[in-house]
Amino acid sequence: MIKGKTRRNTYRAIYRLLDRVTPVPFDCGTICGAACCRTDDPDRMGLYLLPGEEKIHDRRDPWLTWQLQSTDEYDFPPSWHGHVCYVNCEGPEHCRRSLRPIQCRTFPLKPVLVPAGETPPFPIVYREAGCELALTWQDEELPYCCPLIESAARLDPAFLRATYTVWKHLIRDPLIRDLVERG
Ligand code: SF4
Ligand code: SF4
Repeated sequence: MIKGKTRRNTYRAIYRLLDRVTPVPFDCGTICGAACCRTDDPDRMGLYLLPGEEKIHDRRDPWLTWQLQSTDEYDFPPSWHGHVCYVNCEGPEHCRRSLRPIQCRTFPLKPVLVPAGETPPFPIVYREAGCELALTWQDEELPYCCPLIESAARLDPAFLRATYTVWKHLIRDPLIRDLVERG
C-alpha cells in the first residue's frame, strides 16, 4: 500500500472537523437524488482514499466495496508507488456518514496550487490571502450533474474554511501535495 506521512490520528481529526460542516445548510442530496452517491457505474463512481486514509477504515464493513489499484496501471502522480485504495459506496441509504472519505467530504470543491500573482483560468471559490492553496470547483468529467457546481452555488462559509484548513494541512504530506499539484 502506498505510504504517506499523514498519520491515522490526523485523518481522525480531519474527519471530526469535517463532520461539523456541509457544503450548503441543507441536504443537497434532496435536489439531485443524491447523484454523487449512486453506484450505477462502479468504475466511474468510486472514491480514492488518500495515502494512509485506509488506516481508519475496516475493510470488512459492508457499506464500502474495496479495490486496490496499482499506481503502475492507473494515472497517479509519478511519486506514488504501490497500491491505492478505491472504494465504491453501497448507496446513500447505507452511508456511514462519520466514515465518509475525504474525497466525498470536500466535494464539490478541489484544491489547487496557484502561485502568487498568477491569475488561473478557472474560478477561485475560496483562498486565503498570500497562500498558494486555493479551492475551485471539481472539474473532472462526472457521470452525473451536480447542481451545486452547475449553479456555482454559494457554499457555506464554515464549509469553505474547514475544507481549506484540511487541504492546507494535507498538502504538508509530499505525496498529497504532488496529487494536488498535478491537478
Ligand atoms: S451531486 Fe452535488 S448537489 Fe447532489 S448530493 Fe452530490 S454534492 Fe450535493
Ligand atoms: S460516502 Fe456516503 S455521502 Fe459520500 S458518496 Fe458515499 S454514500 Fe455518498
